[in-house]
Amino acid sequence: MRIVQLRKSRLFKLVAAALCVIPLLYILFLQSNHENIKFSAFSSKNVKTKPQLVNELGNFEPQNVAERTGPGEGGKPHILRDDQQNDASQMLTEFGMNMVCSDEISVSRSIPDTRIPECKHWNYPEDLPKTSVIIVFHNEGWSTLLRTVHSVINRSPPQFLKEVLLVDDFSNKEHLKGKLEQYIMRFDGKVRLVRNKEREGLIRTRSYGAKEARGDVILFLDAHCEVNVNWLPPLLAPIYRDKTIMTVPVIDGIDFKTFEYRPVYQGGHHYRGIFEWGMLYKENELSQKEAKKREHNSEPYKSPTHAGGLFAMNRDYFLSLGAYDPGLLVWGGENFELSFKIWQCGGSIEWVPCSRVGHVYRSFMPYNFGKLAQKKKGPLVTINYKRVVETWFDDKFKEYFYTREPLARYLDMGDISDQLALKERLKCKSFEWFMDNVAYDVYDKFPALPPNLHWGEIGSVALPSLCWDTLGQDAPAFISIYECMGDNNNGDLSQLIRLNAKGQLGVGERCFEADTQGIKLVFCRLGTVDGPWEYDEISHTLLHRIHKKCVALHPQTSHLSLMPCDTVNTYQQWTFKELQPKY
Ligand code: UDP
Ligand code: MN
Repeated sequence: MRIVQLRKSRLFKLVAAALCVIPLLYILFLQSNHENIKFSAFSSKNVKTKPQLVNELGNFEPQNVAERTGPGEGGKPHILRDDQQNDASQMLTEFGMNMVCSDEISVSRSIPDTRIPECKHWNYPEDLPKTSVIIVFHNEGWSTLLRTVHSVINRSPPQFLKEVLLVDDFSNKEHLKGKLEQYIMRFDGKVRLVRNKEREGLIRTRSYGAKEARGDVILFLDAHCEVNVNWLPPLLAPIYRDKTIMTVPVIDGIDFKTFEYRPVYQGGHHYRGIFEWGMLYKENELSQKEAKKREHNSEPYKSPTHAGGLFAMNRDYFLSLGAYDPGLLVWGGENFELSFKIWQCGGSIEWVPCSRVGHVYRSFMPYNFGKLAQKKKGPLVTINYKRVVETWFDDKFKEYFYTREPLARYLDMGDISDQLALKERLKCKSFEWFMDNVAYDVYDKFPALPPNLHWGEIGSVALPSLCWDTLGQDAPAFISIYECMGDNNNGDLSQLIRLNAKGQLGVGERCFEADTQGIKLVFCRLGTVDGPWEYDEISHTLLHRIHKKCVALHPQTSHLSLMPCDTVNTYQQWTFKELQPKY
């Protein structure tokens, strides 16, 4: 009884309220102009097309997936027998990954669902755009390439998968010829193969793939990936909402020796792509400020850059941005070129936690850069960086790049007038705007660089043919001296040292420190650009201000260490010599 009464009185209140509100709404409607009406029509479409978090399983979640057993299933490491190790190490040299191991694992193997649990409960729009998954490859292994293809076919809603487009960058391995053409016939036209007529490098090959693609969205993958459960709809949903959004899946690691599948990022932490001033790709944990812009932890978030290999974009939008700068050669810098171009010219990049894709990180690059590298002398990747920096950075920021990479000033980057014209035509914003509004957290780890006081090789006054040399070691390691390379230095930067105005002594992205045993190559302290070093221009000694000692060369052992300063001892005297390589 009570309940009914209550309902009755509620109903009464509701009717009374409505009688008051309706005329008010009508007045508002009369006042509203044309634009307001347009806006409300747009936002109602938005509601229909927006992903919804629901209690039940999301609309594209797979159900009743059969359990599989076998080598590498569940993403478990697959360990080979002792008598296979010879073949395995041969394959490792040829492909940068253990193809003997990969060949024993099913191309349709299962992998662990690495998403945060919330990801299972999103409903995505039913009419997402059709996608061309583009896989460019050069001399890749057989089973890893096909596992990439099968994982896409197995784990993508077929209505959104227009095609898998394989683009061969002039491979010369036999298994990638007729055998591959034969194999893909089983996919009834869903997998298409096109080939370059000569080696173009991955950057131009991706641009070619985009032009060749028939889907509304292009989605790039490396040729050694495995896409995870329900990976595709979350990547497409933001692009469906706004064609100027590039989406990026969260990358998991696949071990290059055992093919174990495991997350790179632990415990639901979110990261975003940034860079350091030498243009090396870096990541930073998502700040609270950015994280809070979303309602749910599994939602996409904005990122300044991306790693390069895996992303999705509206095809027309990619082509309207001129695809990749065609002057970029083979590998490197293209991820930044596209990132800066997107952000500065009005688009945005979102990382998508609910889309996970595994990638085999190789131990080394198993291919050379072919004829393209010989055409351009000098370190090709740095030339790419220079093109990107000269196109997209403002002068102040260009200086940070040349401070960190002094030799880049001497490199011939070719003609960038087309890139600058595009930037003008699209009325793109400044790099300063990008740094202030998007990539502001770069400074947390990589502050603005003070100028170099000196850069070049550090030679001994006592033994002038000898220079400081990292010997190509990884930090942390003691460094030593080695024959000075001088201007013959072509890409080997193990003697190129910088002393900045705040006392930091650096080589590449690393720094020099010292302890009682010697001079050490170490990881620079993130977020700092200062250091303990002080060079005396008159005595040529190099003082460590904290230890209050100077760097000395041991006359017999050639060991470098700190000693009580003795300004007239030539074994404690050093000269910086700038390098001017003749590329
Ligand atoms: N690739 C290519 N042409 C090249 C170099 C690479 O098509 O000249 C392909 C390669 O087969 C792979 C993708 O481009 O599918 C990315 O290259 P890689 O995996 O070597 O780059 P990483 O992941 O090491 O950055
Ligand atoms: Mn790769």
